[in-house]
Amino acid sequence: MEEMHMSSTLPQTTDDILAADAHLVQSWADLNGLKEPHARTAIVAAKGVMVRDSNGHELIDGIGGLWCVNVGHGRHEIIDAISNQLSTLDFYSTFYTFTHPTAAALARKLAELAPGNLNRVHFSTSGSDANDGAVRILHHYYERLGKPSKKLVLSRHGAYHGSTYLSIAMTTPAYSKGWSKAEGIVHHLKKPHYWREGANMTEAEFTDLLVADMRHEIERLGSENIACFIGEPIMGAGGVIVPPKGYHKRIQALCREYDIKFIADEVVTAFGRLGHFFASKAVFDTQPDIITVAKGVTSGYQPLAATIMTDEIYDVVSGPDGVFTHGMTYAGHPAAAAAGLANIALMEAEQIPERAGVTGKIFENTLRTLEDIDIVGEVRGSHFMMGIEFVRDKASKTLFDTKLNIGMLVARKAQEKGLVARPLGHILILSPPLTLSEEQIAKIGGILRESITEVMNELP
Ligand code: PLP
Repeated sequence: MEEMHMSSTLPQTTDDILAADAHLVQSWADLNGLKEPHARTAIVAAKGVMVRDSNGHELIDGIGGLWCVNVGHGRHEIIDAISNQLSTLDFYSTFYTFTHPTAAALARKLAELAPGNLNRVHFSTSGSDANDGAVRILHHYYERLGKPSKKLVLSRHGAYHGSTYLSIAMTTPAYSKGWSKAEGIVHHLKKPHYWREGANMTEAEFTDLLVADMRHEIERLGSENIACFIGEPIMGAGGVIVPPKGYHKRIQALCREYDIKFIADEVVTAFGRLGHFFASKAVFDTQPDIITVAKGVTSGYQPLAATIMTDEIYDVVSGPDGVFTHGMTYAGHPAAAAAGLANIALMEAEQIPERAGVTGKIFENTLRTLEDIDIVGEVRGSHFMMGIEFVRDKASKTLFDTKLNIGMLVARKAQEKGLVARPLGHILILSPPLTLSEEQIAKIGGILRESITEVMNELP
């Protein structure tokens, strides 16, 4: 790993970094817990699948930054593309009558990769605003079609769609406890988690139940009041939940039956994590009306997101007598668009999604072997999107007391042993770069087994 070029004004030692960091308000964190000295980890450099902390420890980046560094860290192809772009055109917007070649080329590339007639791309800067925008666009779409009452959104318990007022409202209610959010617009359907919610049903019966729940909610609210359904093909931050077989197609069929638009939030699942550029069609055989992407579209090298809509939606919102009053200054920023183009070029040249289809399965199978440990209830997910749920009692699936913070205990242990993993209550999440070697996969499996076993043996 190369030395970081830090300006002398940057804090250098761990103590100096953490002293400066007292001014930084962390995201999605227990801010009170972070007041403890050294509760934070400062990452100072990264290369390939490795990161280095401010104490000089080299760690495998088991979470790919935050489900996003798909091609690995420090790829000069992307860094050079950003740098060259900034030298040519540092900034111009995609507002009003303006555009620039890099945003245009990325929009065309995304339209080429996205399934079916998803040919129109609106850029933004985060997954949250891409999802927020998707709903705004559909509200406007139905206004223009003379159906202004179609405003409600169907989401699901367990979903994660972001942190803006609307996207947190679409996220599982458990995550906005104690916070206000856009009230009244979003209605949550049952969580499609067979292992925990399926009781004594077969998987097919559980799917029937989920479909019946959705139909019941549509009938209760009135389809004339519902604009859309939003769902991650595999739920990520809600605990890596893979819905039961056949679920996606049946949800889509219900949407079509009731004139409800189907938004697939592919912020995590797109760009190779499940072995394809997009998962909706290739993995789940669905054809959404809107797909939102962020994270892997630039592998996190620059902030960029997109709301990719069908020609049909675009034709309505671009009709006469109206202005598309939606957009953010930095949408399609030249540096971010350059990062996106270079990232996709790299993925194509090195066949990263295809290779992830193979190595991701090895990763998945390696993690699944951990299910023989007494406190591992379920290992779930697909390819490079995995979650491990811990239980106090396997047979009854009883959880540990939340105060124990079991996920954090295992994550800390793993970090001491050289692996960054993400705790989420009683779940541990793994979403590494897609470029892991088989040797590194085996190493992750070994660290996790040791960490979980040690935590289990030290339990009070
Ligand atoms: N949608 C999904 C599925 C996500 O996992 C995330 C973030 O983790 C978001 C949306 C929000 O994206 P962002 O954090 O870029 O706003």
